[in-house]
Amino acid sequence: MAKIIYFDYCALIILAILLISTVFRKMIRGRVNHYFLAMLTISIITVLADIWAIHLDEMGPGNVTAKCIAHTIYLLVHNFTPLLYILYLVAQTDTWHKLNQSRFQKLVLCVPMVLIIGGFAVNPFRHIIFYLDENDYYTRGSHFLLLYVSVLVHSIFGIIYIIRYRKLFSKRRFSALLSIFPLMMAAVVVQFFYSRLVVEMFAITCGLLYISMMVQRPEEVIDTVTGLGKLSAYVTDMKRAFANGKPMKVIMINVANYSILWDMLGYDSMNEVLCKIADMLADLNRKHGVEAELYYLGVGKFRFVVDYRHFDQTEETAQLVNALMKRGFRYNQMELNLVSHICIADCPKDIGDVDALLAFGSDLNTKAYTGEVLYAAKLYKKEYYNIMKDMDRIIERALADHKFSIYYQPIYSVNEKRFHSAEALLRLQDEKYGFISPEVFIPAAEKNGAIHKIGAFVLEEVCQFIASEEYKALQLDYIEINLSVAQCMRNDLTGQILGILNKYQVRPEQINLEVTETAASYSQKMMMENLNALNAAGISLSLDDFGTGYSNMRRIASLPFHIIKLDKSFVNEEDNPRLQIVLKNTIKMIKAMNMKIVVEGIETEDMVKQFSDLQCEYIQVYYYSKPIPKEEFIAFLKQNLSH
Ligand code: C2E
Ligand code: MG
Ligand code: MG
Repeated sequence: MAKIIYFDYCALIILAILLISTVFRKMIRGRVNHYFLAMLTISIITVLADIWAIHLDEMGPGNVTAKCIAHTIYLLVHNFTPLLYILYLVAQTDTWHKLNQSRFQKLVLCVPMVLIIGGFAVNPFRHIIFYLDENDYYTRGSHFLLLYVSVLVHSIFGIIYIIRYRKLFSKRRFSALLSIFPLMMAAVVVQFFYSRLVVEMFAITCGLLYISMMVQRPEEVIDTVTGLGKLSAYVTDMKRAFANGKPMKVIMINVANYSILWDMLGYDSMNEVLCKIADMLADLNRKHGVEAELYYLGVGKFRFVVDYRHFDQTEETAQLVNALMKRGFRYNQMELNLVSHICIADCPKDIGDVDALLAFGSDLNTKAYTGEVLYAAKLYKKEYYNIMKDMDRIIERALADHKFSIYYQPIYSVNEKRFHSAEALLRLQDEKYGFISPEVFIPAAEKNGAIHKIGAFVLEEVCQFIASEEYKALQLDYIEINLSVAQCMRNDLTGQILGILNKYQVRPEQINLEVTETAASYSQKMMMENLNALNAAGISLSLDDFGTGYSNMRRIASLPFHIIKLDKSFVNEEDNPRLQIVLKNTIKMIKAMNMKIVVEGIETEDMVKQFSDLQCEYIQVYYYSKPIPKEEFIAFLKQNLSH
């Protein structure tokens, strides 16, 4: 009875379209895509072999060799499909290391295949799988059932594998990946009872089509500019790898001069440059057989994720990438110079979670450029990233449980030869992490908005102190309070500050507000208005951390500052004669503008003397006193007054 092979033709057309569209959609890099492409290719070969075999059978006796070849190809390749699908699932779940560790799983995968290959090897002599009868008609052999058993074993393995790792998939992916099994089983049953209906390959093709639509979606994983994996794919893959405890080495490549190149080249040309870099990296990956997964996370950040089989090549690859990036390339008659930070992170040993991996990757750009390959093992401070991750909760807890406290650091007046003021510095003692530096929690509080509550707390505490009897005995002129950028941008800032001063009966001249140089260099109208209003209300202002940012001198001169605080990094430049000239002339310039100077953080007694000689009025250094709690501060000043 003639077989109905239209289903095979349909399958062939769908598979061809899938193969072409997968290539056109650039789903060709990485293991997952490789296995999907392999499945499509193997399915096409199977369908072709099936059609060929059926046609030969219908031609009647003869063509013995061709029939044997066609049937062997069909049966053998067809039997590989479930195994290949399992490998695709392993790639999807990124669980190679686990599969590799389990001897049982490897046996379940290999034994059926070995038996089948052995069966086909002896088939020409023993006819155990299939043979051609006296009419040269295809007939099943005594051990044909072996093929069904193999498919069944691999299918059960695949189903268990998907269910075991279901947490790694969204519902959509889970159902799509599972769908191929019931489809295949149904087709096998149909074909078993109605052998004329050749539907097995059609069923598998439907499954692959569904997977292609639901799982193999380039818009979810591929960066359209570079063709590499995109940020969301990186995050998903890394999360999965961390959840599986999979060891991997990540080579981070950050083009540090990305924004300069962007400004210089513009959108289209910059995209071409990024494409070129991506191609260079992909070429290197291929040529050296590293088989790393490549990603582009945006803003000049590329990632190579090397798995454990190629760990020994990681160092060499990073060095090659470094050399490649340092060489730069020619683009439109221009020699493009790529300044890139390259760093190897051994995960999960060095860095154990995705958020920390991303944050560390971004912070790399703040490191000084050395031209050498960097190592997360040396640079990564676990505690810091744990704190950063937990920061919102830490701040909330500190505000609720009153864990913030104010320390005071006395400021020495060179002319008056006494401590004439002090700076209020916030301290946070967390029950879990211990002391946390304000340099860590203030930027976080600025991001999550808690800075406004914190700022109000500092002001209240200081005003309460200033209003107290014990403060009066200290004979201080004022207390300096730090204002953050976010506070300076608020339109009700002046009203809020004056309200608190009023509440404690503190006069405006009893406090001094510090604004950092970086904050002052924002040309925000709100900031200008706030500073002018505070000044008009009688509050004096200091420019903090001078010498650390890129201040526009013209703007600074136009803002109503009374004091400039020279930052410790600016004043500790004894060994650089040119910077010494800049420093001396800066001091002259500030004095000519009638502003006073506070020198912060100089290290030695000699330097204290040197800056006093340069007519800097005030000195705030550990040499005199570190920031100390209020009671200690009171005792310290009282002791000094009595001398
Ligand atoms: P800042 O306002 O420039 O404060 C001076 C910093 O220099 C303080 O660090 C102080 O302990 C440190 N310092 C003083 N003398 C020396 C010295 O001789 N050697 C060295 N190496 N360091 C010295 P601290 O307390 O860790 O504060 C860091 C920054 O956190 C402050 O820099 C300020 O920008 C910010 N901050 C602190 N408290 C507050 C606050 O209440 N509000 C806001 N918005 N920011 C604050
Ligand atoms: Mg300050
Ligand atoms: Mg400062």
